[in-house]
Amino acid sequence: MYLKDSFERNINYVRIAVTDRCNLRCFYCMPEKGIEYEPKSHLLSYEEITRLLKILGNLGFSKVRFTGGEPFLRKDFIKLLENTAALNLFENIHITSNGTLLEKYLSKLKKIGVSKINLSLDTLDKERFRKITRRDDFFKVMQTFHQLIQESFNVKVNAVIMHGVNTEDILPLAELAVKYPVSIRYIEEMPFNGGAKENNKIFNHKDILQILKTMYPGLSKIEGKHGDTASEYTLPEFKGKIGIIPAFSRTFCNTCNRLRITANGDIKTCLYDNGVFSIRDFIRSGVTDEQIKVKFKELIQLKPKDGFEASKSKNKQIIRSESMSSIGG
Ligand code: SAM
Ligand code: SF4
Repeated sequence: MYLKDSFERNINYVRIAVTDRCNLRCFYCMPEKGIEYEPKSHLLSYEEITRLLKILGNLGFSKVRFTGGEPFLRKDFIKLLENTAALNLFENIHITSNGTLLEKYLSKLKKIGVSKINLSLDTLDKERFRKITRRDDFFKVMQTFHQLIQESFNVKVNAVIMHGVNTEDILPLAELAVKYPVSIRYIEEMPFNGGAKENNKIFNHKDILQILKTMYPGLSKIEGKHGDTASEYTLPEFKGKIGIIPAFSRTFCNTCNRLRITANGDIKTCLYDNGVFSIRDFIRSGVTDEQIKVKFKELIQLKPKDGFEASKSKNKQIIRSESMSSIGG
């Protein structure tokens, strides 16, 4: 059983930002001084998240991704993963992480059954890593990458590609997919950077593919699954694959299967909307599970046709400019 939105899309994937805090300062995500963090009491508690997941799981959601901010900064994050696994409702429990704090938890993740990790890594050059993230954690992240491969995790590498910043990393990153069974995903930059900068000219999916084809002219497209945001490609000599995510061009909205819960408990039915409802305030008002279930069904019907439609209705009065660190990516 899947919930369908008003455009007949099956909605079965929820992404939850468990915190807006982060130990890196990626310049496409937040300003150097960081963002104004929500008071801890504004974040959903683990009990609240687990309650929401139980309701969503019973509504037919089968995939959850925990993201942030950096999810491993949140105290007892492992406990939340254990609670989620214990619900026995989600086929897929995934995490997106910057990889700086992850290594020591690998055996616990395995034990819980979390085997799919998206690791953010925009460059294979230590100096560029420092410029992009404003921190010196390149070797730590690379060590985690190798550890994940060694321990047979299913790894996807997320790389935001930007004009004049890291386009020279496109081919070296693809080499990782030649050598290792990983999926390298090149992502167009989106405008959610906490007011850190203007979004200049976007290095788009076509530009990325063009560079990849200079080295790999025979790249063949892989048939995607419903809800995939990446167009994926491979070649016989690849152990892994490469994918391009047109996150700014928004060419994948017609199969979107997602609902987002931001760090402060806002529901986003589209990455580009304004946050349509505070599920945190709703559950804190003492409502029953049945009322929450009905609310989720209503909210899913508000899902806009695409990201362009969603950004049209964006509230221009919004004071705090959004950072991906609160939205969760
Ligand atoms: N801190 C974790 C990490 O970096 O993987 C999880 C949260 S982060 C917000 C989730 C994903 O969003 C990362 O892969 C990051 O590269 C991506 N992201 C952040 N800001 C972005 C932007 N402005 N445009 C495109 N992707 C962005
Ligand atoms: Fe932190 Fe992830 Fe944002 Fe980088 S992209 S600042 S690691 S939340």
